[in-house]
Amino acid sequence: MSITSAKRHTFTIIPRNQHPISRKKISENALKVLYRLNKAGYEAYLVGGGVRDLLLGKTPKDFDVTTNATPEQMRKLFRNCRLVGRRFRLAHIIFGPEIIEVSTFRGHYQGLEANKNKVESDLITSHDGMLLRDNNFGSIEEDAQRRDYSVNSLYYNISDCTLHDYTGGLKDLQEGTIRLIGEEPEKRYREDPVRMLRAVRFAAKLNMTLSKKTAEPLSRLAALLKNIPPVRLFKEALKLLQVGYATATYRLLCKYHLFQHLFPLISCHLTEDGNSYIEQMINRVLYNTDQLLRNDTQVNPAFLFASMLWYPLLLHANTLMKKKHLSYFDAFSLAINDVLQEQCRTLAIPKKITNLIREMWYFQTRLSHRHNVCIHTVIEGTEFHSAYNLLILRAEIENNSELLVLSHWWKKRILIDPSNKITIPTILNCNEDLICSHSRLIPHYDSI
Ligand code: ATP
Ligand code: MG
Repeated sequence: MSITSAKRHTFTIIPRNQHPISRKKISENALKVLYRLNKAGYEAYLVGGGVRDLLLGKTPKDFDVTTNATPEQMRKLFRNCRLVGRRFRLAHIIFGPEIIEVSTFRGHYQGLEANKNKVESDLITSHDGMLLRDNNFGSIEEDAQRRDYSVNSLYYNISDCTLHDYTGGLKDLQEGTIRLIGEEPEKRYREDPVRMLRAVRFAAKLNMTLSKKTAEPLSRLAALLKNIPPVRLFKEALKLLQVGYATATYRLLCKYHLFQHLFPLISCHLTEDGNSYIEQMINRVLYNTDQLLRNDTQVNPAFLFASMLWYPLLLHANTLMKKKHLSYFDAFSLAINDVLQEQCRTLAIPKKITNLIREMWYFQTRLSHRHNVCIHTVIEGTEFHSAYNLLILRAEIENNSELLVLSHWWKKRILIDPSNKITIPTILNCNEDLICSHSRLIPHYDSI
């Protein structure tokens, strides 16, 4: 059935027997929420990644629901409901570990006009055009236009199991195109610059292509990410790099000059040929992360950041040592503080994680001692396994015989203790008779 809406797109309703979404594939809790809303007389739809991924035959990461019930009405309807977000108010319906996110249909906002009579604290958009609040409720048709990408704007109606397409999302899904909704991509990115990160995330995850108009403004507007609170950017960074498509995502982030606004300490060292130690480390650690996730193995964000920032840390330590005439260890300690502080300006890495990163970095020096160490104390250290994996990565990247010997030595110690469940990547066979000198293992690189 096709109905032409007042908007530019053709509104299509796809009946139950013409789309593959089955209720069996929807989480029980999401169904409970949808039915409860419907029974109380509200409209209720599954929307977003849940619908998109089910149509692609993938397992959705989570299920998002949208309704014409307001957050306050939802609070009355669900005992297990928590209202969250100021900029974008939502209801979280909590079922133990599963949270169903329910949004109220968003309406159009009046843009700058609405700002005119407002005091500063009550502004709807910032001077850069960023939406400071998006709590203007409206109809489902308006809601569809307020979403980011057409493939994310498909609605599954629980009352008759039909699929509603207001923005051409189905065609884009079939053609593998990520298309920003609306005629003014720049305005949409300005409203919320995180949409730029979401564009590359979906392109990488779904193996799709950005439409020309969607891709064009990215490099030009990438700097708008500086307006995003670091806490939000940290969460986005994890979604970019720790969901199984990090390698492809990294390439796109670099291509559209977005990477430098997340990891300025790394990007300033990226080279033309892309083969420096820093780049080799990034490629390996992202590849390994993707592989682990593909095998359903948990990944550790502290390890990811510790590895990615390792060579920038060494370079900085080296500079400090020369400039301030410090001992290497003092320079290394100071550099750890500087690097973490600087990185947290763009991505607010929680303290719990920065502490682990610190520990992994200090562990690199502990692991370089083979004599007079209490092996058990080292092996039982909380971050030993991650630190050991970082040591191996370093050895392989630098093809450094001393590091290889050291990795091999620790590997043997771990194998002696069968209770140690460590995954040991294959490393080259190496000659253990080589002498390891501590000073050479934390190298003073002039260029990495
Ligand atoms: P994922 O698989 O990562 O959950 P998703 O598309 O479901 O992908 P969510 O962050 O869960 O992403 O958001 C749910 C839906 O809310 C999106 O599909 C999209 O329709 C809408 N949405 C989320 N963030 C934005 C945004 N910044 N601007 C506009 N719409 C957004
Ligand atoms: Mg989702």
